[in-house]
Amino acid sequence: MSRPRAVVIGGGIGGLTTALALHRRGWHTVVLERASRLAPVGAALTLAPNAQRALAALGLGEEITKLASWQGDGLMCDPVGRPLTRTHSEAVVARFGAPLIVLRRSDLIDLIVDRLPEGTVRTGEAAFLTHAGSARHKAHVGTPNGMHEADLVIAADGVRSPARAILFPDFPGPAFGGWTVWRILAPTPGSGFVPHESWGRGQVWGSLVRDAQSVFIYA
Ligand SMILES: Cc1cc2nc3c(=O)[nH]c(=O)nc-3n(C[C@H](O)[C@H](O)[C@H](O)COP(=O)(O)OP(=O)(O)OC[C@H]3O[C@@H](n4cnc5c(N)ncnc54)[C@H](O)[C@@H]3O)c2cc1C
Repeated sequence: MSRPRAVVIGGGIGGLTTALALHRRGWHTVVLERASRLAPVGAALTLAPNAQRALAALGLGEEITKLASWQGDGLMCDPVGRPLTRTHSEAVVARFGAPLIVLRRSDLIDLIVDRLPEGTVRTGEAAFLTHAGSARHKAHVGTPNGMHEADLVIAADGVRSPARAILFPDFPGPAFGGWTVWRILAPTPGSGFVPHESWGRGQVWGSLVRDAQSVFIYA
């Protein structure tokens, strides 16, 4: 019997992670990504223990755990830097089973893509759902290079998902909440740096240790 086929629209963390899960379950899986390559975009992100458990289930637990670098205190401060609350990473581990892990988005993408069979991810393929399929008919996904038939289509095409707009035309879509965020990686300042988040009126500043050399800043 031939393997079931899945087509994943979108090669972000959601699409690639789902593709790896399906591949491990024996599905023939293709990821169609409209960008011309999986460029190392995005700064860093924080992996909470529940995300770590999901990645561990996909065989990435050891690599992810190795990336844990944040030890010691974390602070929540007022706008002039006075501590409001203090958390210790040991307390996070005791309560949630693992520390928070800060890692480069592109490192996570690379870890996942390395475990997918060659040719799974096809870049430069803007995809559109032409037929959602039914119990008796396969779904169809088109790209400028041709048509894909699928037993399962995963719409992982981002927060403004065009596929969702086709499947759920009445969904109003996301609304801008008024927040704009800058995210960068910067060299770690000398010793004594404590990861912290400062809350002002309508403003947030966060600095988290990524590794011995760099700090992840968001504001
Ligand atoms: C400011 C900010 C901070 C965040 N911080 C964290 C954090 O610390 N930890 C955490 O876990 N999460 C964090 N998140 C959330 C996390 O970044 C997102 O949930 C996650 O990246 C979404 O991944 P995705 O794959 O669903 O979508 P995306 O990353 O948006 O990927 C969608 C992909 O689909 C592609 N695409 C779109 N249309 C098509 C098409 N027609 N054909 C083919 N490809 C298409 C796009 O090019 C893109 O590559 C944060 C989000 C924001 C905005």
